[in-house]
Amino acid sequence: MITKVEGIIVFETPYGETSKIVQLFTKEYGILGLMCKGVQSMKSPMRALTMKFTYGFFYIYYKEEKLSILKDVDLICDFKTIKSDILLVSYLNYLTELTVQVFKQCKNTILYDLFLAGVKKIEEKMDPLVITNILELKFLPYLGVGLELDSCILCGNKTNIVTLDADAGGYVCKSCYTNQIVVSPKTIQMIRMYYYVEIASISKLSIHEAIVKEINFFIHRYYERYTGLYLNSKKFLQKMLDL
Ligand SMILES: [Zn+2]
Repeated sequence: MITKVEGIIVFETPYGETSKIVQLFTKEYGILGLMCKGVQSMKSPMRALTMKFTYGFFYIYYKEEKLSILKDVDLICDFKTIKSDILLVSYLNYLTELTVQVFKQCKNTILYDLFLAGVKKIEEKMDPLVITNILELKFLPYLGVGLELDSCILCGNKTNIVTLDADAGGYVCKSCYTNQIVVSPKTIQMIRMYYYVEIASISKLSIHEAIVKEINFFIHRYYERYTGLYLNSKKFLQKMLDL
């Protein structure tokens, strides 16, 4: 029986002369391995539809815990804007690798929705760094290291928040403050927005560059310290951003 499933290809590898095995990230089944027979042949109409980042409806013979077999694909979106820009492709590569790693740890398919909502916003030309940072923050609870952005992480005080502490993992109030880096009050406010915002509802972003940088620096530090994730795609993206 053929099953229709929505998903996005997150990994591809050749198999034999003309076939390919891909990993499809889906909401219903998590990550599915698909055998795609004959799709690497020049004549195959499926050639372009089985590449990494193809987002569509996949018609498959589903086999539990085995490779399923791909029969057909209906494209939903080919992310034309992202694919025409090497920097945006680097963001997409990183977000894909990150999402797959986080998914492997928590197996929560809400990550599928978060990931796609973020990628769609990048495709709509919203600031890719801000969208990436929003996803990175939203993934933290699924890695077991969510932040405290409602009150001081050291004493629970809800007022007089003076900074963010990447070592402690959240807000720090005036009476608990020792020698942490002091971030701008706008950063304190915006990072909470990032953490709680529903991505699909974002219609415009106008955040001062200095604030974007402070938030990115905090997230980078926190990830290095607490997530145990060291992704090549992130190193590559950082190199691109430094150019
Ligand atoms: Zn405190």
